[in-house]
Amino acid sequence: MLARHKVDVPASIPASTQGEGDVQRQPLCPSPECQLSVDVVLLSSCGALIGAHRKNLDDFGDGFPSDDSITDSTDPVKLTEDEETLKLLLLFMHKQIYPKVSGLSGDQLFALAEAAEKYMVFSAISACNVFIETNPKAFPVQSMFYGAKFEYPDIADAAAPFTIGKTLANIRAYANNNDTVVYAWLQYREAYIQVAERALTPTSTLHVGGREVPHVCKGWKKYLAATIPKLPRTTMNALSLFAKGEFDLSVYEEHSDLECPPCRMLAKSWRNDVRDMLEEVPSFHTFL
Ligand SMILES: [Zn+2]
Ligand SMILES: [Zn+2]
Repeated sequence: MLARHKVDVPASIPASTQGEGDVQRQPLCPSPECQLSVDVVLLSSCGALIGAHRKNLDDFGDGFPSDDSITDSTDPVKLTEDEETLKLLLLFMHKQIYPKVSGLSGDQLFALAEAAEKYMVFSAISACNVFIETNPKAFPVQSMFYGAKFEYPDIADAAAPFTIGKTLANIRAYANNNDTVVYAWLQYREAYIQVAERALTPTSTLHVGGREVPHVCKGWKKYLAATIPKLPRTTMNALSLFAKGEFDLSVYEEHSDLECPPCRMLAKSWRNDVRDMLEEVPSFHTFL
């Protein structure tokens, strides 16, 4: 398991809102319905002050400063998350209906999910994970990295097939220096590249009595002339179709109504090879 971080209460904090003579007003709790009194203040990475409740931080999470460590302190607790993420996270730390995560942008969703993991807010972890796993097409690259980082193989595996049509630059944009995952992705995509090679390359030899015998036949030429234009033009095109689940194996049989049995056999084995290779690509998490 990955280590979750305890947050240190800073010895001193910026006191910009506490000038001498100012009337101190407690920042509000982000939950509009909340009747609890604010007894701890969080300071976001962007400098926003957010009201919270010590008991809720303890009851709903693990990793926020404990009651003991902040008993005598009225200093805001400086955290590395942004204001929106902290406010959302706090909504998951009240006895109330939790907010939906389905409307969040990818950046917001994964910032929330990462913060939930860091502070072990299981209500938010569950909401994020259910959405991410059941919507792998929504943010496939971020989902893949998230699943890999926090050891959710099902999430990583659900998302990974939707990333194989991406470029390495697309992947690295979300890598956050996680080279292990990038390397795993390259190996995973390599397996699909091999499928693409077979998908785009006909074999014109038959196995006969342990020998490879080229099949020279007008029918085969005709079949290839009709079939090849219907295939993806490039390996990347093929990968994109695999990624979207839109590669149609029936293309190999559309023109295989041939008089010649060896021709029929070649067409069928082409289709079956591609089908089998697609099914046999290992799950993404096995490369991690
Ligand atoms: Zn509250
Ligand atoms: Zn033939």
